[in-house]
Amino acid sequence: MSAPERSSGSAGERGPSVGPTQQHRAGDAPGSARQQDRTPARRAPLRARSEPFVLGVDLDGVCGDFTLAFRAVAAEMLGRPEHELPLERSWDFREWGLADGDYERIHVRAVIDKRILRSLPVIDGAADALWRMSDAGIWIRIITHRLYVNWSHAVAITDTVDWLDSARIPYRDLCFLGAKPEVEADAYIDDAPHNIEALRAQGNDVIVFDQPYNRDLPGPRARSWAEVEEIVYALAAREHPVQTQLPGIDAGADRLPRRRDADAESP
Ligand SMILES: [Mg+2]
Repeated sequence: MSAPERSSGSAGERGPSVGPTQQHRAGDAPGSARQQDRTPARRAPLRARSEPFVLGVDLDGVCGDFTLAFRAVAAEMLGRPEHELPLERSWDFREWGLADGDYERIHVRAVIDKRILRSLPVIDGAADALWRMSDAGIWIRIITHRLYVNWSHAVAITDTVDWLDSARIPYRDLCFLGAKPEVEADAYIDDAPHNIEALRAQGNDVIVFDQPYNRDLPGPRARSWAEVEEIVYALAAREHPVQTQLPGIDAGADRLPRRRDADAESP
């Protein structure tokens, strides 16, 4: 049985990079020339660059509650009450007692038929924290490992983009990956143990987003998006000044729809 993001069976060795989106200011992606060079060396110290600090942000289990949405589909397919499928689960779902092939069948139903990727519950505080970090000059690079099965790429990509818009999550570029976890960021936030370990093995700074299945990993660890912000600002400030917002003037994650509404109402 496989777990999400873990399979190497994806056709997407390295998926398309989409963006920046209509939500965001145009600009060349930092390190874009370096994207041609896939050597594992870390980015040059920020002091030697004028580029912004790039934060690689995972989606499932970090910005969106994959387990919650997946459990609803699993309970329906297995004919079991949801309470028998605990949210405090291991990476391989062993607490759910799935049989061989169950995970794959449920995943297909969940992504293709139920379209859970466009309706995942947003993890508390993610959108507002990402907007604040973006306002502070952090370059938000969304990284998702959703190219999990060969024939669902179109649905996964379409639903991911729709979900990011509806969740009001800001980003400057969006990377769909298969097996390789690294996309030239200065730091990463992820929940998947194998991704965290692989990124750290390459010398990257990785914040563990706390989930039941990653608690054996060493920190830095964030149990909330407020803690993510604190850690990111500390990492970025090592090499680069960070201007955070003052309390009380947060423009909020709903700034874009508010601006559109205001523009529509103006004569
Ligand atoms: Mg994840």
